[in-house]
Amino acid sequence: MLLEGKKAIITGGTRGIGYAIACRFIEEGAAVTVFGSRQETADTAVEKLTAAYPDAKVWGRSCDLTSLEAVTEAFTQTAADMGGLDTVVNNAGISQRSPLLDYTAEEFAKVMDLNVVAVFNGHQAAAKIMTEAGHGGTITTTSSMVAKYGQPSGVGYPTSKFAVNGMVQSLSRELAPMGIRVNAVAPGFVETEMLDHIPQEQREGYLKSVPMGRFAKPEEVGDAVCTLCDPTLSYLTGQTLILDGGLSL
Ligand code: NAD
Repeated sequence: MLLEGKKAIITGGTRGIGYAIACRFIEEGAAVTVFGSRQETADTAVEKLTAAYPDAKVWGRSCDLTSLEAVTEAFTQTAADMGGLDTVVNNAGISQRSPLLDYTAEEFAKVMDLNVVAVFNGHQAAAKIMTEAGHGGTITTTSSMVAKYGQPSGVGYPTSKFAVNGMVQSLSRELAPMGIRVNAVAPGFVETEMLDHIPQEQREGYLKSVPMGRFAKPEEVGDAVCTLCDPTLSYLTGQTLILDGGLSL
């Protein structure tokens, strides 16, 4: 198993892509703590995961990911509960599709807070714990294909994912001497609640643009994140793995 004995935190691990990552991590032998926006949703996810994987070591937690202090405290407590921390996946994220002239400052700040500030917080809290433990680790963030092309409306979301890619490239260099590998996965369209607000007609148009002729399943993103965290890929860092069914070729 790829992640046997590893201890992992997955933010936004209660549904969608994050939940699928949690499933794949458990299947590969990791102990997992899923972070949700509310303790109630984290508890429900733990119940589901425990029912699906009775032998799994799973915890659920919630904290304000946009607060560095709260994230540092929650990650430190989680590492104590799990007996260490080897892997963090910064996956929680939101999108906002307003056109520029309707976009409010509050909406823009909300996207930046979760998609960028929380990702910074996750990197710092994880790096602190991993560096003190002295054994390195992996930090992986869910970026998006929009960080390659932008998108025609909702400028905050692509802006946040370009920032994520920049953070990953920079921190991979800063944290490499500590044995911490920093990467991102950049999915195209993935069948989750995030796509629910896209009108059917527009979805069909998007579908036609994907050479594979379908959207990704969340499990396929889970597989990609597992691969990026595979300890045998010990020289791989600073990469954003594009996973878009051939869209960007
Ligand atoms: P989703 O809406 O199904 O899940 C989002 C997750 O983030 C949930 O677990 C939710 O609890 C968490 N979250 C939302 N707001 C939060 C907050 N304020 N505090 C803490 N947690 C919060 O979406 P998803 O599609 O699973 O998205 C996961 C990641 O994948 C996001 O970073 C998203 O940008 C990225 N992504 C999604 C797609 C797609 O097509 N679905 C494509 C590319 C990238």
